[in-house]
Amino acid sequence: MAISGQIDRRELTNRYELRNRYVFTGQLVMKTALHIGGGKITLTSSDSPVVLTPEQQPFIPGSSFKGALRSTIEKIVPGLPGFSSCALTDLSENELEEAHKRGEKVCPTVRQSEIAQARRRDPAQAEHIMQEAIGDLCDTCLLFGSPFTAARLNVSDLYMPDEEWSGMVQVRDGVAIDRDTEKARDRLKYDFEVVPASAAFKLEILLENATKRDIQLLCVGLSEFVHGFGVVGGKRSRGLGVAQLEGLHVSALELYEEGVEQGKVSEEQRRQRMRDFLLRKTFSDQVDGLAFLTAYIESIFA
Ligand SMILES: [Zn+2]
Repeated sequence: MAISGQIDRRELTNRYELRNRYVFTGQLVMKTALHIGGGKITLTSSDSPVVLTPEQQPFIPGSSFKGALRSTIEKIVPGLPGFSSCALTDLSENELEEAHKRGEKVCPTVRQSEIAQARRRDPAQAEHIMQEAIGDLCDTCLLFGSPFTAARLNVSDLYMPDEEWSGMVQVRDGVAIDRDTEKARDRLKYDFEVVPASAAFKLEILLENATKRDIQLLCVGLSEFVHGFGVVGGKRSRGLGVAQLEGLHVSALELYEEGVEQGKVSEEQRRQRMRDFLLRKTFSDQVDGLAFLTAYIESIFA
């Protein structure tokens, strides 16, 4: 089974051509009710309605799922050999100073003001400072994007299959707790809408010009969702938003390197694959999602 793509990082920054493309598809099935606040004006009287499509069907914005996937991965990265994540947590000036003293690489996403100051102080070196910063990006910023680099991964909005939606949005009561007395405050009762458990949404993730590390990290995050440890949407502390990813499938178009073993693609194969893809949208490889996750997660610890 040939599954994968490995690109040298430096090579990647110099090339804008398409080197690989992966499409991950599956169904996200809610194990508990889901609340994703829309902030849009709707006809309901609820204090906090769920986000709806123009056809009045609940959906999960791709950015919402992407954020959930990112924080799922950030939580696990510290336990993975050779990976790093800034977890988007800004360091204080003192913490930064300590890290520099220890000679540690610090992801530029969490030291933006330091970089801005350095560039202002030395405008002639501004471009060099920027390039150096980009070289320090952590693994999750490279995959999910940061002010210093575009994301390699894109998540489409997640819609319900047509036959799926019964039209039922439930309303739940919430009570605001006074932080000082830890008692419910009378006038702070509110309600919010949820989509009931067992609702299903179609998931599609597009990954382009991915390194092996990008794929490994994505597989770690998706594996959490496959095993029911993923959570999406709001009010998670109330147990809402627990989701399970089912029927995961991976379509791969690999034009340069393939296989967790990083086999090279010959010039002739590359042309053939590109032609088939352009003419018929044929991917070079169709892989069962679970086999794909297993191969990549095992390769992290190999
Ligand atoms: Zn980062």
